[in-house]
Amino acid sequence: MLDVLIHNARIITIDPRRPRATAIGLWNGLIVGLDDDIAGLPARHVVDAAGLVVTPGFHDAHCHTTSFGLQKTVLDLAEIRGRYGTLTTVAAYASRLPENAWVIGMGYGAGLAPGEHVTRDDLDRAGGGRPVWLTHYSGHQCVISSAVLKLIGLADAAPQPCRGRIGVDGNGRPTGLLEEAAMDLIKEKAGQSSVEDLARAIDAATRAYAAEGITSFTEAGVGCPGMDHSRVEIAAYQLARATGRLHARAQLMVHNEILHEVAAHPADAIDRGLDLGIKTGFGDPWLSLGAMKIWVDGLGLDADGSEPADFDNDPAILRRDIIAAHRAGWQVAAHAMGSQAIDLVLDALTVTSAADPALPGAGLRHRIEHGAFIRPDQVQRLARMRMTVATQPVFISEFGDMFGDLLGTQRLGDALRVRSLLDAGVVVAGSSDRPVVPGAPLQGIQAMVRRESSSGRVYGRDERVDPVTALAMFTRGGAWAARSDHLFGMLAPRLSADLVLLDEDPTDVGTDRIGSIRVLATMVAGEPTHDPAALLAGLPEPAPAPALSPLSPLA
Ligand SMILES: [Zn+2]
Repeated sequence: MLDVLIHNARIITIDPRRPRATAIGLWNGLIVGLDDDIAGLPARHVVDAAGLVVTPGFHDAHCHTTSFGLQKTVLDLAEIRGRYGTLTTVAAYASRLPENAWVIGMGYGAGLAPGEHVTRDDLDRAGGGRPVWLTHYSGHQCVISSAVLKLIGLADAAPQPCRGRIGVDGNGRPTGLLEEAAMDLIKEKAGQSSVEDLARAIDAATRAYAAEGITSFTEAGVGCPGMDHSRVEIAAYQLARATGRLHARAQLMVHNEILHEVAAHPADAIDRGLDLGIKTGFGDPWLSLGAMKIWVDGLGLDADGSEPADFDNDPAILRRDIIAAHRAGWQVAAHAMGSQAIDLVLDALTVTSAADPALPGAGLRHRIEHGAFIRPDQVQRLARMRMTVATQPVFISEFGDMFGDLLGTQRLGDALRVRSLLDAGVVVAGSSDRPVVPGAPLQGIQAMVRRESSSGRVYGRDERVDPVTALAMFTRGGAWAARSDHLFGMLAPRLSADLVLLDEDPTDVGTDRIGSIRVLATMVAGEPTHDPAALLAGLPEPAPAPALSPLSPLA
């Protein structure tokens, strides 16, 4: 007996062996079969989809979930553009707060030119002298008012050297801009978020994910210096999971700086890792550890559009850490925007693979995060090394006009490759980098298909893909990158019942309408995580949080 039969559906399976179907049967959270496989089987619940479209649940291969969730609980500046808009919004918000309360904002920076920021003096005026702390939408920068600068001992001068970067004016006076690890200075004073606060943020974020059809995601880094919200962030995911507040499967990358030297038997080849040897793959299908995340470069570009070797650290240290992670059995997820950073990653992995042919190597599915400026010769090399690229197509719709002016149509067209990578045999995983840009996967699919900026300029016609291919990258591609293709990513027997119901077929509407297709219902492991119209009414609710009761004493 099936638990659920969904029939009369237009099912896009993303399984090349059976691309389309009209009925799907579920049992115990798994897909039993489609069409003929399940013909005549009785079912406890029958859902007549009445021609609605069913696809695998979406996977966002690179996003920042706690940041996205926290942004919902503070002053959200994501929709605010430019200097004037930012400062008037801060002023209005601050005026409603007690005299010395913190003004904490996230998503700051839209509509400012590259390198342009509001200053401490601006924020002192707008915030009425209150401590003001606005985190940039990239997550890599923040601006703070004089009250915060004073609190962290930077009121008059920046120490040299310092971790990360501290913006100063011509007289050496801090401007209020902090970048990368320098942002930790504030967290040490302003305190970290509590595990409960973060669990609430994860709840809010993954509810929003479910409404957009996301059934699993890869958090692109816990423990990122300056960008994290707590040193015990994984505890927040565990709390969210244990209390029924994790509404999509989570895989967590661990930032390289959290790894440290560990003493193991020489035969293990483990020099660096986490305590006790925990590594990629630890966890369960709902919550697991993913790759080691390493920042190899920044934007990969200078303000003049040239591609300098914008390394985040001493190249020798970056190489050492990539090699050590590979040897210790960590999947490597390298933030590499520019071609020189990509060379560094591929060279390091080539050296270590040649030196240790017995080590896991290709099986780890090492990843390039972003891969914005991949050279043609690197396309072939990525394919030979069986690397995966996690790409963010919405960067084109959101930032295309800004970078198009800087790089020109041809160069931007060659950036953020997709088609040429796929043709060469590289797996591409679709992602958003949310909250840097909006993260709804259907918007990502539309951006991947159209490659069009908000003003309607097309960048890289040759790198476009058709809607089914784009859908595959936001489902099967993501599952592959997360080493979870044995669990989800297609609608096929024995995989998990992670699926969405859509009101229209993304492969059969105008490509400019894909992003506005409505997600009517979302299901993870056979249970609804989003079902506002009660299409799946009668199905089991998500299991209640396991109650921790003491074992009854033996009689
Ligand atoms: Zn990111």
